[in-house]
Amino acid sequence: MNWMYSCKRVAELLSQRLDEPLGLIDEMRLRLHLSMCGNCGNVAEQLHAVHAATAELMSDGLELDEPGSLPPSH
Ligand SMILES: [Zn+2]
Repeated sequence: MNWMYSCKRVAELLSQRLDEPLGLIDEMRLRLHLSMCGNCGNVAEQLHAVHAATAELMSDGLELDEPGSLPPSH
């Protein structure tokens, strides 16, 4: 049984994790790979930074926007 994910699989899981939490096993294997693979560690850091910045922008935007300017379908 291969416990190491490929870098390609890790990239998939990283972006998937932004939308939904991973299972415990996936999470552990992902972290195991990240602890041993500096390249994927950088990717994870960048994805996290982008995600955090986007979330911040969206919450700021909601606060700054006047209620009337928000799309009615929200
Ligand atoms: Zn890797």
